[in-house]
Amino acid sequence: MPDTGAPAAVPGAAAGVCPYTISFMHAAEQLTTATAMVFTTLCDQMRRTAEVAAKNSNVPVFLFNLPATCSSTTARDLYVHELRRLGRFLVDIGGKLPGPDELARVMTQYATQRRRLRDARIRLSGREFSEAIAQFHRTGAFTPDTRTESQPRTPAADCESGVPLALVGGPMRRQDLVLFDLIENAGGQVCLDATTTGERTLPDRFDPQRLTEDPFDELVRAYFDSIPGIFRRPNNAFYDWLDAALTARNVRGIIFRNYLWCDLWRAELQRLKTRVDIPVLGLDVSDESDTIARTTTRVQAFLELLS
Ligand code: SF4
Repeated sequence: MPDTGAPAAVPGAAAGVCPYTISFMHAAEQLTTATAMVFTTLCDQMRRTAEVAAKNSNVPVFLFNLPATCSSTTARDLYVHELRRLGRFLVDIGGKLPGPDELARVMTQYATQRRRLRDARIRLSGREFSEAIAQFHRTGAFTPDTRTESQPRTPAADCESGVPLALVGGPMRRQDLVLFDLIENAGGQVCLDATTTGERTLPDRFDPQRLTEDPFDELVRAYFDSIPGIFRRPNNAFYDWLDAALTARNVRGIIFRNYLWCDLWRAELQRLKTRVDIPVLGLDVSDESDTIARTTTRVQAFLELLS
């Protein structure tokens, strides 16, 4: 989750480039302590950004070929191959190859943090939970304050303080978190963060027996086999996950965020509207100066409709 948008002067901040990609690249350029950059081929824009980074940056760049197909053995084999290639890349720049026991130990450590993170959701507001996930992705740890460990559910987390909504779409930037505040001020409450930086992209829980027997294969299962991505073909797993989560949280409306120039998410808006039987508000996200005012008005009108 990049901290800020990119200044207008950033090269490439032109028509045709999604604002998230620009912010991501800008944030990567500011990271003076980074020893490498890892990109995936999730979309053409990220693939192209990796090429630009490799050309302009002094640190090594790794492009992970992420298969879009999810139901074939060949795609899974490619993912395994790419994970091993990433491992060799990391060893080449000073990393250490873990044995199975060490891998299982680190996986367990991350799984423990993720469990605490998931458990904390019911005590956090939508924005706080999104920030906690970002913190976990950045540091590998979840450091709850006293309130999240000891107090009961907040009315906000139970969606008692506003109309329960889901946020669906691509990754958020820190500056975009203001959307949570706009929604709350308009009488809504984000009960489900189904954005790419939200809970949807946390891997499945590890199976203890499989973790012991073959931690690498369990890693592949929990990530590649389990995370529902919109870019997957077919991407039915995304809609299955969303259907179950909407029902479980009694969600009454969906706010769908689509960055300007993002073909991947834009193509899903119509499909989503035909798949779900609750109202959907589509928001185009750009860095234009009137975005917040326009978004506020549209969110208010949407919540009027749901009230
Ligand atoms: S928002 Fe869309 S175009 Fe931008 S990085 Fe994500 S998938 Fe790619």
